[in-house]
Amino acid sequence: MGISAKMSKLGTETAFDVLARAAKLGGDGMDVINLGIGQPDFPTPAPIVDAGIRALSEGHHGYTAANGIVELREAVAADILKYRKVAVNPDNILIMPGGKVTMSFAIEMFGEVGAEILYPNPGFPIYESMIRYSGATPIPIPLLEENGFSFDADHVLSLINENTRLIILNTPANPTGGVIEEKELKKLAEGLEQHPDVYILSDEIYSRMTYDGLAHVSMLSFPQIRDRLIVLDGWSKTYAMTGWRLGWGLWPDKLVPYATRLCVNYHSCVNAAAQYAGIEALTGDQSPVDEMMAAFDERRHLIHGRLNTMPGITCTLPKGAFYAFANIKETGLSSRDMQDTLLDDHGVATISGTSFGADGEGYIRFSYANSLENINKAMDRVEKVAQELSGL
Ligand code: PLP
Repeated sequence: MGISAKMSKLGTETAFDVLARAAKLGGDGMDVINLGIGQPDFPTPAPIVDAGIRALSEGHHGYTAANGIVELREAVAADILKYRKVAVNPDNILIMPGGKVTMSFAIEMFGEVGAEILYPNPGFPIYESMIRYSGATPIPIPLLEENGFSFDADHVLSLINENTRLIILNTPANPTGGVIEEKELKKLAEGLEQHPDVYILSDEIYSRMTYDGLAHVSMLSFPQIRDRLIVLDGWSKTYAMTGWRLGWGLWPDKLVPYATRLCVNYHSCVNAAAQYAGIEALTGDQSPVDEMMAAFDERRHLIHGRLNTMPGITCTLPKGAFYAFANIKETGLSSRDMQDTLLDDHGVATISGTSFGADGEGYIRFSYANSLENINKAMDRVEKVAQELSGL
């Protein structure tokens, strides 16, 4: 009693529950290999750490502007020009405490009872959680394995009605490692010309994490939707900075005042030293990013190859991010039972596909942000489970 009804609608991110459980089992003496949490296992590159330390030594201890320091917003604008080939005004960029907050603000801005918001399913769990919390109705965009975890733009457009306020897109994607095909993104952007009141949130947090030379296609590539497009990206994944809590959002002119006001209400501003570290990350040597991606690529092939030799398990080769979304339907176990068996009985932390939405049933997400040695060791254990389940 006393707590508002909407609190009961707030979901969670199972990855944090699994992280806590894995830590508990590890503390109790179990040899746990963590392929659960979605964070690079590399340290933040030293020059970035040094820039943060320097900022503290130089006295950057106070509040900054709510939307972030101007040098950082200019660095983000230069980065967008470099990688997405679009010139944007630094005044449209808001520095955030992580990528997540841009999505929460966007959903809060458009979500209310009677509104519908389209979101990827399976997808990052906070989309559905925050949509429900806002009072809006979540409408899933199915990302099916048979479509390469991409979508059909005509299908997405068919889900739009007069109540649709926002469409959330995520490419490269968590949890599937899939990439939405450029032709579908283009078709969607063109189709959206018929729906001028619908806004788009493009979650591009894995934009620098693609493989085999595949270029990331930003929704910014499509001028016809630019005045109603919110882009989310940040430092967490690309620069191994998950704990710094640093992200950015690019907002259309008319939304900037509202988003800034949300910043003032929720967090005032982002940690000042982290913002200075963020400038170094964007403007400094990019070779640590390339080295990290080369390591992820090697691990991607290892885990993909190993999973596909196991009875009852298949896995599509991920095209981006650092997740393998393995199909376990033939093993006969539900996703949740497989997650629990792997962790509690075999010390391998993974995430059930259903943590990412109902369409994730039959899948397990492996984060391959771990060493080759640990991935091999974990795969030996998964193989044993798969063999036992298949009666071998
Ligand atoms: N968007 C997606 C698709 C993610 O997978 C994540 C983190 O896992 C985030 C956003 C949030 O990133 P951050 O840790 O910067 O808040």
